[in-house]
Order: sequence, then structure tokens, then C-alpha cells
Amino acid sequence: MRLFDTYTRGLVELPPPPGPVRMYFCGPTVYQRIHIGNARPFVLSLWLKRWLEQTGYEVTLAENITDINDKIYDAARGRGIASAELARDASRWYVEDTDLLGLGRPDHEPKATESVAEIVDLIGKLVERDLAYAADGDVYFRVARYPEYGRLSGREGDEEALRNPSEEPERAELKEDPRDFALWKAQKEGEDTWWEAPWGRGRPGWHIECSAMAEKWLGPIFEIHGGGNDLIFPHHENEIAQSRGAGSGFARIWMHNGMLQLTGEKMSKSVGNIVSLREAVERWGRETVLLFFLGAHWRKPIDFNDDVLEQARAQADGFRNAFVAPPDGRTAPRWEAFAEALEDDFNTPDALAVMHEWRSAGQQELLRRALAVFGLESLADVAVAPEALERLARQRAEARARGDFGEADRLRREIEAQGWEVRDVADGYQLVPR
Ligand SMILES: [Zn+2]
Repeated sequence: MRLFDTYTRGLVELPPPPGPVRMYFCGPTVYQRIHIGNARPFVLSLWLKRWLEQTGYEVTLAENITDINDKIYDAARGRGIASAELARDASRWYVEDTDLLGLGRPDHEPKATESVAEIVDLIGKLVERDLAYAADGDVYFRVARYPEYGRLSGREGDEEALRNPSEEPERAELKEDPRDFALWKAQKEGEDTWWEAPWGRGRPGWHIECSAMAEKWLGPIFEIHGGGNDLIFPHHENEIAQSRGAGSGFARIWMHNGMLQLTGEKMSKSVGNIVSLREAVERWGRETVLLFFLGAHWRKPIDFNDDVLEQARAQADGFRNAFVAPPDGRTAPRWEAFAEALEDDFNTPDALAVMHEWRSAGQQELLRRALAVFGLESLADVAVAPEALERLARQRAEARARGDFGEADRLRREIEAQGWEVRDVADGYQLVPR
């Protein structure tokens, strides 16, 4: 099994099963319902975990919830509620909404608010090693003391490109170097959550939260670190500097998924072109949303628009039909063809193409097994219609037989109103859930 690694810019082989494979994926900052783009790393991480487990690996997946962040303070202020209350509500929305996908949950979902002791310890270690310094209640990472800074993002040596944006421009003069970034931020007026630390009352910066949580749940070295490719710089660059600076090996493989674009435009909360995961699942259904993600390679950008979703829905119908009215068994690729696609950088579009060959060849068992890898086994469940609907369908067939097409149409609509569809096939009809 090999995966593309951003750090070395090449494919890296995983150790043979049972591994272990320890994975950390960056989860969302919680202040509103997550958008459909945020669901991509969640889906990728759970599919990968399911596949690795099926091929004999011992997998531990940790996916954090960032519930301390400037964005949360701002959003809470806008709504006139306490930031802790908003973070608590939005954490619950995140779990509820991702549960709609039916893929299970990561093994650990640590929250920053529950990891402050480990975060403060890690900052202390960096200060001790002269890799960080306190300034007026803040603590900053001293980039000049970490020569490999910039290697992940390919910005190494480019001082201008390695500047860390200051979230609070008025405090920028506290930094020794524009590349430095905050590990601890002193409490500011109007901020209603804080913790005590040796440098004063305040709260952790975003990057140090992930370094501390990854190590707490996976140990000082682990196999895979994932997240959207918008996190490469500065977030992941800073995670590496902090963790390696403190003496940990940290991640061996960096997996960065491509962004979701709403009809060609990058989808982010700041642009305003938002479709929430919940809205997408309510409109299109769980299976269609999963097939939409399956059709694109995880490293590539993915377009979200009605046409693409219509195509995904047609694929879901096609797979379902393969179990309702299977074509005659014909020769088709073996299971290994599907496995090889996934072992080669988790190529789901190639795996999906094999699944379509099984569909058109009526290879139900192989197809059922493959669908289950992606949480789509429900497409193989051929539902049995209730007796009352069977009766309506029989009456419709009789109406058609005697040429009463008006009555046949009325009965078809009555069946559809109850969530089923009647399809005419060679030897009669079939009832299929809509
Ligand atoms: Zn992170």
C-alpha cells in the first residue's frame, strides 16, 4: 500500500500489515454547521481506515475538533452568546452532521479545550530548548532556530513566503522575526474563555493544539497526517516545526486532499458560497454524496454542482438496479483489480470503474463487497415492498393489460406518493424504493 506524501513529493510505502497505522487528520474549527468541503477529509480518513483494516492493518485514527480559535470568539460575539457555548453547540452539530454519512467515527476525537495541560507542557519544552520565547504574555515559536522550516510547503529559504500572518496586527511588533508564530496568546479584552499558564492567563494558538493532540493520542511518531491542502502552510509547516523541534519524529506521510470547488470556485466560509454537509445530504441523500466523493481522486480538486451530483445519483441508481434486476453473469475483473487501485495511492476513481464493470456484468457478490468498503452496502439491500403496494402494482398491471392507461397512470402516481417506483421489466414489473 503506497500513498503520495507531500513532504517527499513521492509515493511512500506503508509498512506491511498489521502495521500499526496511526493516523491524525485535522478536523474542523467549530463555530457553524460544517460545509460540504469540510466533509472531504472526514470521508477520506474513514474510507482509508476501513480499507486498511480490511486488509489486515491495525489502525488508530484521531481527528481533532478545534474548539479554541479566534474565529469562534468572533462568531460568538456576533451572535451575542458565550464562546464556550457556541463551541459546544457547533461540536455537537459537527458530530450529528458527519454521522449522517454512516461511515462510523474516528477512534479519538480530541478537543483542544480538553488538551490544554498537554499543550502547555509542549510549549514549556520549546521554551526550554530556546525554540520559543515569551513576550508580553504571548509565547512565539522562534523560526530562526529551526533550519528545516519551509520544507513541507517548498518555501524553504524564501523569507517573504514564510511570513506567518499575524491574527492581531497590533501585537506583530512582539515577534523577533515575521516568520515567528504564536504558541500562546495572552487574554484580550472581551475574550470569555482562558486558561492559566506560566506565561500568564490566555489560550493556545491553533497550530500547537494539533501537535499536542496528535502526540497525546498517537505517540511521538505516527504513520499518516492528513488534512486539506489549504493547511500545508502555515498550519502543517508549524506543526512539524513544533513537534520535531520538541524532539518527536511526528508524521511519516503527509496526505493533503484537494479542495472542493463550488462550480469552479474554491468553497470557503469566507467567500460565502456555502452548502452545508447537512443541506447536501438532505437534498441528495447519503449514498449520492458518498458516490460524488468516490468519483474524484482525493488529491485533486473536486467540483460541486448540480450536474455532478445528478451523475452521482444516476450511479447510485445503477448500482441499486444491479441487485434488483441483475444482468446475466459475464466475465469481469477479479477482486484484485479493485484492491490494486486502492493500494496505489487510494485511487477511488479507478476502483469505482471496476465496480461499474461488475455492475454491468451482474457480479453481485464482488459489487456488494466493494460497496461495503465505502459504506454503500445499503445499495445492495433489495427492499421488499409492503403488501398494500404490491396490491396497487398488481391492479396497475391489470389496468395496463386491459388498455386502461388512465387508471394505470393514476395507480403509478399513488405508488410514487408512497415513496416507491414501479418499473416494467420483461416478465412483469418491479417495485423499487425511490
Ligand atoms: Zn491541525
